[in-house]
Amino acid sequence: MSNIVWHDHKITRAERSANKNQKPCLLWFTGLSGSGKSTIANALDVALHERGYHTFLLDGDNVRHGLCQDLGFSNEDRIENIRRVGEVCKLFADAGLIVMSAFISPFASDRRMVRELFPAGEFIEVFMDAPLETCELRDPKGLYQKARAGEIKHFTGIDSPYESPEHPEICLNTSQKTVDECIEAVIGFLKERELIDAQ
Ligand code: ADP
Repeated sequence: MSNIVWHDHKITRAERSANKNQKPCLLWFTGLSGSGKSTIANALDVALHERGYHTFLLDGDNVRHGLCQDLGFSNEDRIENIRRVGEVCKLFADAGLIVMSAFISPFASDRRMVRELFPAGEFIEVFMDAPLETCELRDPKGLYQKARAGEIKHFTGIDSPYESPEHPEICLNTSQKTVDECIEAVIGFLKERELIDAQ
């Protein structure tokens, strides 16, 4: 590391986003498997794209096929997974994009590590606050059933902990709110913070 020198870019971060007429930020969706992270992040991606914003979505499962395919689900690997994803999100935000990420990210310290990569106000923690019972009933990928049968070890919510965010910027209880209501809440927040236009 000591022989590697940081090169300053000629085009600044602010100039890149000004060219796009938008403000970069990261919406970090966190919650149990089945809490709705992918569903809401994808629907939000569509809603923002239709409004003309340049967005990008990083999804846990997809990242594990490529960037993080060498990582498993031990605590150590989960931490490294989130570290890499955080750095990639930062690069996309530096490029001027509105970034969404959908990762269980069960540990508060990992989420804090990503938050600290971003200027104040640009990291938006979105807590998918659905009860375990709801997520387990949905079981969209059949993973809870496998975890209960002992076929998957270290499954968050079953035999691996989830640390709920204490001060998330946005909290969505997807067992009480519809997908449309969740999107409305996030869009409302982005308008209020002047991260997107108020129209
Ligand atoms: P995660 O990405 O957190 O693992 P998914 O988005 O893959 O969760 O799955 C959530 C499941 O719950 C989907 O089948 C989705 O259709 C369903 N669902 C029902 N109501 C909601 C809601 N209000 N928000 C998000 N998902 C919901």
